[in-house]
Amino acid sequence: MYICEKCAKKNKTCCSVEHGKDVSYFPLSEEEIERLETVAGPREKYITKKKNTAAFLLQMNRLFPKNAKDINTLFPVDGEHNHLLVDDSGSCLFLTDKGCSLERENRPYYCNLYPLWLVFGELCSFSNPNCLAIAQSEKNDDDVEKLLEVFHKDIAQVEEEFDKILLAWDIEKKINLW
Ligand code: SF4
Ligand code: SF4
Repeated sequence: MYICEKCAKKNKTCCSVEHGKDVSYFPLSEEEIERLETVAGPREKYITKKKNTAAFLLQMNRLFPKNAKDINTLFPVDGEHNHLLVDDSGSCLFLTDKGCSLERENRPYYCNLYPLWLVFGELCSFSNPNCLAIAQSEKNDDDVEKLLEVFHKDIAQVEEEFDKILLAWDIEKKINLW
């Protein structure tokens, strides 16, 4: 059984957030929403708009540490971004007790990459005490590379997934991550 499916049976997973902490959900690009619409119908059912708050901008700048100017252009202070809608318990509407109900190729790019990330081209991971994959990898060796094994991925796949995020936001050329 895939690790995230096991996680969904045990925890609320990374697809569920406490109310007031949904700033941790990544914004959705137009490309990702259009892809979702082909399988899930009109966006109004599962997408909402959130203000580009100071907390959101801080989070985005942490994710792209060298690119405050680009992030601030994409997400102006008085603007809004698209965001996955959550239910009353804080769970993404696509979350089931078997994990995400969407096929991998239809999920938002960030969902496919989480909990892995790249900063300056270096593999890293988000901290999440409820993430079964992180717990399993730390049991082995407290090494982020072990997370690749847990997800049956290699670094090239992570880079490819990360590039999809950059392309979706049209920030590949503007952002000097490497
Ligand atoms: S789309 Fe799927 S993977 Fe992404 S937050 Fe929702 S349930 Fe989780
Ligand atoms: S990425 Fe981690 S927290 Fe999210 S569903 Fe998979 S194992 Fe659970």
